[in-house]
Amino acid sequence: MIYLDHASTTPVDSRVLEAMLPYFGDVFANPSSLYRDGLRARSAVESAREVVARFLGCSSSEIIFTSGGTESDNIAILGTAKNYKKGHIITSQFEHPAVLNACRELEMIGFRVTYLKPTSGGFIKASDVNAVLTSDTILVSIMYANNEIGTIQPIKQIGRAIKLFNKKNKTKIVFHSDACQATGYLEMNVAKLNVDLLTINGSKIYGPKGVGVLFVKSGVHLKPVTFGGGQEKSLRPGTENTPAIVGFAKALELINDGPAKKEAKLRDFMIDELLKVRGAELNGSRDNRLPNNVNISFDGVEGESAVLYLDRAGVACSTGSACSSKSLEPSHVLLAIGQSPERAHCSLRFTLGRKNTSIEIRQAVSKIKSVIESIRRMSATYEK
Ligand SMILES: *Cc1c(COP(=O)(O)O)cnc(C)c1O
Repeated sequence: MIYLDHASTTPVDSRVLEAMLPYFGDVFANPSSLYRDGLRARSAVESAREVVARFLGCSSSEIIFTSGGTESDNIAILGTAKNYKKGHIITSQFEHPAVLNACRELEMIGFRVTYLKPTSGGFIKASDVNAVLTSDTILVSIMYANNEIGTIQPIKQIGRAIKLFNKKNKTKIVFHSDACQATGYLEMNVAKLNVDLLTINGSKIYGPKGVGVLFVKSGVHLKPVTFGGGQEKSLRPGTENTPAIVGFAKALELINDGPAKKEAKLRDFMIDELLKVRGAELNGSRDNRLPNNVNISFDGVEGESAVLYLDRAGVACSTGSACSSKSLEPSHVLLAIGQSPERAHCSLRFTLGRKNTSIEIRQAVSKIKSVIESIRRMSATYEK
């Protein structure tokens, strides 16, 4: 199987697995327990916190471990809103459902939400955010890189615009960014990014699933959204998932720029080759795009069935995002960048990873081409 679905999740690096194993075994104790084994587990959690803090260029007291990207997004958005009874929130139409659905939930209880429309290339401009900031805005949440089309958002500039607005108007607008897809590829220093809250997770970076981090800048106050034993500053109560936290930190330590350069070359080759196919169009700008993302619509080729045929041919990929692929709704991301529902239904996402080789990518390209051809041959309705 040629695995080209790394934006859905990555395999666990063997070194990550190795680092985690002791915490399923001997060091199983609850990190909150006071005897020596508890203290060993506590010390593993706190060392992991320091690794994450170093990676993000912040203090370890600003790191909250969570159960993943979804939970980090929910704590960020709902936890900010809970400081207010009502207010204005700015986000974009092509966020991950973890952000969009948290915002919709707040809309139902009286908050006002502006869903900014991205450009046709797949970008939210800082000036567009700036234009809708108001004195009752409480939160802006814009993702760092889009999970379906890989376009990279100008987070620094958006953050700068919010800071300036806050200064001028004495407002306290909080800036959150979901960086799950960006981790491992882009600048992750939270001070440089001008963010107050940042979401990252383990499952997209060769770490374990079910673990994430929320960076909460010192001085930014969040109200808890779940209640329990007070762990993680009461923002994410519950027994810490020691093995996953240790594995997550190990995965961050293994990040370097080597794979990104290789993946970018393979991505460019793949885009060039697939665009030679009749009726193929790239979704999202070619520039300012994650090094591992290829998202293409093939005219007249329904995405869901292409994924199934490609599976039989030995290529794992997805249509749009993994989250929406169980529903037959067209991708909200492709609709947001202005595509027709027809074209949005005909998209395939191939996302590369560290282990993909150029031989594999050549094979994948030829398999994709032949699957597209055979689907078109079978479909009597396709005429051009
Ligand atoms: C995968 C992903 C999430 C969800 O993360 P989980 O760890 O699966 O909860 C959120 N946002 C983005 C951009 C993602 O890619």
